Amino acid sequence: MSSDRRPEGAKKRQRSVRPEPADLKSAPAAADLQSVYDAAVLGAGASGLAASYSYLRRCIEGRGERSGPGKKLLIIDSNGAPGKKLSVTGNGRCNLLPESFDAKNYFGDAAAYPRLLSPGRLEQCVRVFEHELGVPLVAEDGRLYPLSNRAESVVTALYSAVRAMGAFFCLGSRVVGISKHGDDYELLTEGENGALSIKARSVIFAFGGRSYPEKGSDGSGFGLLGDLGVRVTPTYPSLTAVEVEKPIKAMDGVRAKAAVSAYVSGEKVCGFSGEVQFTSYGLSGVCVMQLSRYITRSVTEGRSVTVKVCLLPGDCAEKARNILFSENLPDVSVVDRLTGLVPKKTAVSFIKLAGIDPDARILSLPEGKKELLMKYMTGLEYLVKDLRGYDYAQITAGGVPVSEVDASTMELKRLGNCYICGEACNVDALCGGNNLFWAFSSGFAAGEAAYEARRGLHSS
Ligand SMILES: Cc1cc2nc3c(=O)[nH]c(=O)nc-3n(C[C@H](O)[C@H](O)[C@H](O)COP(=O)(O)OP(=O)(O)OC[C@H]3O[C@@H](n4cnc5c(N)ncnc54)[C@H](O)[C@@H]3O)c2cc1C
Repeated sequence: MSSDRRPEGAKKRQRSVRPEPADLKSAPAAADLQSVYDAAVLGAGASGLAASYSYLRRCIEGRGERSGPGKKLLIIDSNGAPGKKLSVTGNGRCNLLPESFDAKNYFGDAAAYPRLLSPGRLEQCVRVFEHELGVPLVAEDGRLYPLSNRAESVVTALYSAVRAMGAFFCLGSRVVGISKHGDDYELLTEGENGALSIKARSVIFAFGGRSYPEKGSDGSGFGLLGDLGVRVTPTYPSLTAVEVEKPIKAMDGVRAKAAVSAYVSGEKVCGFSGEVQFTSYGLSGVCVMQLSRYITRSVTEGRSVTVKVCLLPGDCAEKARNILFSENLPDVSVVDRLTGLVPKKTAVSFIKLAGIDPDARILSLPEGKKELLMKYMTGLEYLVKDLRGYDYAQITAGGVPVSEVDASTMELKRLGNCYICGEACNVDALCGGNNLFWAFSSGFAAGEAAYEARRGLHSS
C-alpha cells in the first residue's frame, strides 16, 4: 500500500459488512475482518465471479467438504450488488459466449493466450454454464444467449453458486490501497462499510477496465497495480459510437441497413454491414461499434479518420441507379421516388442536402442532381471528430500486457499469489460474446491457479 492512498481510519477494523443484495433470499456471508482470507477477489463482475466459482469448486472437488483449509474466499466490489455490468450486457439478454471461436475477432495480446482462447476452451465454458451452473444456452446468429433470454439468469447462476460454496462478500466497498507484507496482502477499502483493512494470502484482480464506469469499472484497479509495480499499457475506449464533424441533423433517429467502412489517412482499415443509427452527434449501431475498434488508436493520436456509409450495398446501387434514371417510370415527385429506395426520413434529408425542391418531378431533375443523390445513398462520407468515450464504450482496449502475466495461470509474474483476469488485461474483441468469453475463460483459469497454489502450500 502506498501510505498516501490509506484512507483516514483505515486501520480501524470493523466486524461485519452490510450483507447485500436482497435478490437471493438469505443474506450472503459478510466479511469477517479479523481473518486472513485465503483469497480476496477484487471485483464481482463476470471475471471475478468466474474466478471465485472455479476457486471454490476446486476446493470442494479437492477436499470433498464445504469448508477447510484454503477455502476462505472474499469477494469485494464497490457496487452494492454483484454482476452489475453483466446484467446489462446484450441489451439485458447477455450474449455470454460466441457460438464458435474465431481468433480474428480478438485484439491486443489475445494470440499469447492460446490455452484460454481456443475452440476447446469455448466448449469447456459452455459445459460449465450448461452442466455445472444450470444455464442452458441457445444460439442466435452465431451468438450464445441463456435460454431465458435474460442476463439475470447468468448473474444469478454464478452468484448463487459461489454463495452456496461459502464465499464471503464485502459489497459497497471500493478498494483504494493495496500493499504486500511478507507473503500476505493488505487491501484498504472505503465506502458504505467505512474504512476497512482486509488481509489475504492471495489476490485475484478482476476489476474490469474503464468502460461504463457507472457500473463500477472506473479503472481504479490499474492504479492499484501500478502501486505494486505492475506495468499497464495505454487504454482506449472501444466498441463505441462515432462522433463526426458534420452530422446530418435531419437524419437524427434514422436506422437503416448499410455497409460502413473506415479510412485512416485515406487507407481503408475495415468494413462491416448491419444496422446503422444516425444520431445528432454522428453514427451508432453494432456495425459502427465494431468499426470503432479499428480506429480508436488513430483517433486518439489525432490522425485523419473518415467513415463512409453506403445505404445501397452490393448490387442494390446498380438497381437504384436504373430506377432513379429511368425514363419509363411514372413522373412522381423526387421524394416519392427516393422513398422507394431508402427510408422516407433519409429521402427527405438527402433532397434537402442536395438543394432540391421537394415537389420537383423526378423526370425534370437534372442528371447532376441525380448523381448527387446516388452519391449520398452509396457513399455518405464523414470526418471523424472523436469516439464516444468510456461512458458509452462497451469495452476497454489496452491494459495489463501479457509480458506481466503467466499466460496459462494468469498469475502476475512480479508478485507471488496475485492473479489478473477479464477486461483489465490487454485483450479485447469484437461484439458477439467474445469479450465475455475472455472474461469467463481467464477468470476460471485465475481461480483454478490460485486454488492450486494454495493447495500446494497447505499440503507441503
Ligand atoms: C452495455 C454493455 C453491453 C455489453 N454486452 C456484451 C455482450 O453482450 N457480450 C459480451 O461478450 N460482452 C459484452 N460487454 C462487455 C462485457 O460486459 C465485459 O467484457 C465484461 O463485463 C468484463 O468483465 P470483467 O469482470 O473483467 O469486468 P466488469 O464486469 O466491469 O467487473 C469489474 C468489477 O470490479 C469492480 N471494481 C472495479 N474497481 C474496483 C475497486 N477499486 N474496488 C472495488 N471494486 C471495483 C466493479 O464495480 C465491477 O463490478 C458489454 C459491455 C457493456 C458496457
